[in-house]
Amino acid sequence: MYCRQILRTPLFGTRAAKLSRFSHVCRSEVSAIKINRPVVILVNIFLSLAAAEHVDNTCPTGGGCGEPAVPHHHQERPLCTKSDEVRLAEEASKKYGSPAPTIFSKVIDKSIPADIIYEDEKCLAFRDISPQAPVHFLVIPRIPIPRISEAKDDDAELLGHLLVVAKNVAKQESLTEGYRVVINDGKHGAQSVYHLHIHVLGGRQMKWPPG
Ligand code: AMP
Repeated sequence: MYCRQILRTPLFGTRAAKLSRFSHVCRSEVSAIKINRPVVILVNIFLSLAAAEHVDNTCPTGGGCGEPAVPHHHQERPLCTKSDEVRLAEEASKKYGSPAPTIFSKVIDKSIPADIIYEDEKCLAFRDISPQAPVHFLVIPRIPIPRISEAKDDDAELLGHLLVVAKNVAKQESLTEGYRVVINDGKHGAQSVYHLHIHVLGGRQMKWPPG
């Protein structure tokens, strides 16, 4: 039990705090031996609970999120505050390459409903199901290019067409004050659907840099 306490001390922040905690454990040991064994046990139970509570409260670094416990000063950013977007992108990247049709193939063949606001022989535009701005729509090609990094040089005309459609639909949506055009690529780009799509977001002031 004492060993466990001592091993837990690194979770408590500064070196001074760790030393103080270590000496506290030692003092408890010595005085408890002088008094009686139950006091030793009680002191250790108290310290164990305090350490466990600290670990939970200081998650993301303490292991409560399924991540290994790591001292705070080794953390560049919290590990358990990942947005849904990043989590979805991580999950999607694991399935990347699967021959299964994506959700956007189903939007194209209309086997699932979507709020389609424009379509032609090469592409369609529809409102994002989880809008991140007052206006948020996606422009996708009918042919299933999985991601922008897999587009071929021969796709230049189609890619240009998607951008022109994005611009025209933004106008149709009265985004006269401007808007943002985004293509997420792969895991680091937080892409969650592996069918190339252009996000168009508008109707509010955007910030920079994006997260
Ligand atoms: P990305 O993270 O760049 O791959 O973006 C995928 C986008 O597709 C997200 O913004 C989702 O909200 C959106 N999305 C997923 N499924 C649908 C759907 N069935 N209809 C409309 N938008 C969708």
